[in-house]
Amino acid sequence: MKDRLSTLYELQLIDSQLDELEELRGDLPAAVYDLKSQIQLFEEQIEAKEDEKKKSINKRKQNDDDIERMKVNLKRFKSQLYQVRNNKEYDALTKEIDHSEGQISKLDAENNAVEDLVQKLKKEVEEIKPQLDTLAKELKEKEAELKQIVKANEREEARLRDKREKVAVKVKKPDYNTYMRIRKALNGKAVTSIARAACSGCHNVVPPQRQIEIKQNKRLFSCESCGRILVSSDIAEEVQKKIQL
Ligand SMILES: [Zn+2]
Repeated sequence: MKDRLSTLYELQLIDSQLDELEELRGDLPAAVYDLKSQIQLFEEQIEAKEDEKKKSINKRKQNDDDIERMKVNLKRFKSQLYQVRNNKEYDALTKEIDHSEGQISKLDAENNAVEDLVQKLKKEVEEIKPQLDTLAKELKEKEAELKQIVKANEREEARLRDKREKVAVKVKKPDYNTYMRIRKALNGKAVTSIARAACSGCHNVVPPQRQIEIKQNKRLFSCESCGRILVSSDIAEEVQKKIQL
């Protein structure tokens, strides 16, 4: 049982050291993540606008072709007007001519609207691009900063991770799960020692009778105030001496 407690405390000490290294990174990882999301959003916006622009240009081209074709027809209809033999033919032709002219002006109007849209999209993309450049520059800086910090502690982190792995395998699965659960809930600290008759996690006094029981290392005790696993100061000292982080 004593070993079980010692190992848990050892794991905690290593994790606390790793947490400190993590803290050195400050808000950089979160900032990098945010910048990446914002950049992605802008890139998606640009892509959508470029896509719409492309489709509009294609539409305009197709309209131009249609207009060309109708103009040829119109010309033909108009020349046929001189060869009509009766009113019925004349009416049919003028109807075709009116229809073609109507279609042409409709397509012309549509093309004007398409052109406006293309210009609008172009302007919008031009407005987003500088913002994207600013974000990309900021991201580059933050990433470089983060990389520097990570690199400075690379060895230390690797050493601690290696050590953690070796200790973690010695912890029984249910203990490990309890440990990780408390750790997650209580800001990283799951195992604390008793210092000056109090839990060093929440600083609430541990009743004297409970202190004696904890000192006996017969079972796992949790702090009645914060729920962290408590170990005696003897174990704390012993482990600290042993691992020398
Ligand atoms: Zn406590």
